[in-house]
Amino acid sequence: MDYTKFMSERSQARNPSAIRALMPYMNCKNMISLGAGQPNPSTFPFESMQLKLKTGEIIDVDPQLFQRSLSYDLTSGLSPLNEWLRGLHTLEHTPLVDFGLSIGSGSQDLLTKAFDMVIDPGTAILVEDPTYTGALSFLDTLDCDLVPVATDADGLVPASLEKTLANWPESNPIKKKNQARPKVLYTIPTGGNPTGISSTFERKKAIYKICQKYDILIIEDDPYYYLQFDPKRIKSYVTIDTDGRVLRMDSMSKILSSGMRIGWVTGPKALIERIDMHTMVTNLQPGGVPQLMAYELLKVWGYKGFLNHVEHVAGFYKSKRDEFIKALEKRMTGRAEWVTPNSGMFVWLRLLGGITDSYDLVMNKAIKKNVLAVPGVAFMPAKNKNPYIRVSFSCVTTDNMDEALRRLAECIDEEAAK
Ligand code: PMP
Repeated sequence: MDYTKFMSERSQARNPSAIRALMPYMNCKNMISLGAGQPNPSTFPFESMQLKLKTGEIIDVDPQLFQRSLSYDLTSGLSPLNEWLRGLHTLEHTPLVDFGLSIGSGSQDLLTKAFDMVIDPGTAILVEDPTYTGALSFLDTLDCDLVPVATDADGLVPASLEKTLANWPESNPIKKKNQARPKVLYTIPTGGNPTGISSTFERKKAIYKICQKYDILIIEDDPYYYLQFDPKRIKSYVTIDTDGRVLRMDSMSKILSSGMRIGWVTGPKALIERIDMHTMVTNLQPGGVPQLMAYELLKVWGYKGFLNHVEHVAGFYKSKRDEFIKALEKRMTGRAEWVTPNSGMFVWLRLLGGITDSYDLVMNKAIKKNVLAVPGVAFMPAKNKNPYIRVSFSCVTTDNMDEALRRLAECIDEEAAK
């Protein structure tokens, strides 16, 4: 496939940084470097690193790798971690085509670089309705048009996607003259933020087919993939990607630590290289020490240990989900409707009682009553008023769940009585 058709002019114009291009040769045997502007690591004050796990287990970090992690390193991330993640990707998704992999400072870092790579000013991109507010905030700066695709309890609706693409340009909500059909679909297939909903595998197959028909690149943003409550996880788009049209984002944020800022992108090498090119001119590389922390742990765990941990974390959120749904049933029956999520940490509430706009309720009434939620408008590509709010059950205790929902119920009653 010729991937330049998916690349913005801005992205195509990027050239590798001359210094970063030397990086791969830095660790070669017998190489004497007078090249890269490396500070001398002997001046760094850190001697060694030891990790103590919550189990009490102690990991003595490889001293050589530790010193390496303190210096500038490869744009695509610490090579042993990169290789480990390649192995995980292969094991979990059995990709059908060759792929590249790059590590970033969280998946947000890579996601925004991917958007920058595929969007030219004035062009259109397909997004779920509703979608991740962190994606919208970035897309809003790219001067592109967002074309919403409907979602329901089973995820993205294939008929909505097909209708939009088949009827282009009449289906273009922006009605810009001569605007080309979108070439990229952005989707959060698992435990969607904000809806908590996951696309079924059947839906994924149907969506993929449509994307083949209209030659669409799929950006699969999947940070909640490993938080699926059923250990028989719904498979990724990667497992059906015969053409190499899936650019997949993964994250350690919900599994190991969000502050470590480790995410990774997999997909066609030509696109991964373009993302690397962007990293070369922005943050140079993801932080070395967090990557090494992750690698040393993953090395000890192995894939089996990692997947055991994942199951433990998913089990934790599943119990939270169950408690939260009970509290919702008690406090919100008749006040809101929702779909019970099968992954992640969110519930998307549609407020009843004739409420058409949740903004004032969340941003004024609820804050006054000391309860926080996110108003639906934050997730709407068209920024339209709506009766939705996003609530999260990840960090709230059982007692606080009930109290928070009691306060929210009061707000809903007040708003409905208006
Ligand atoms: N995509 C989605 C859908 C998210 O919910 C988040 C986290 N809020 C991200 C990307 C960014 O995650 P990370 O911490 O890996 O940057």
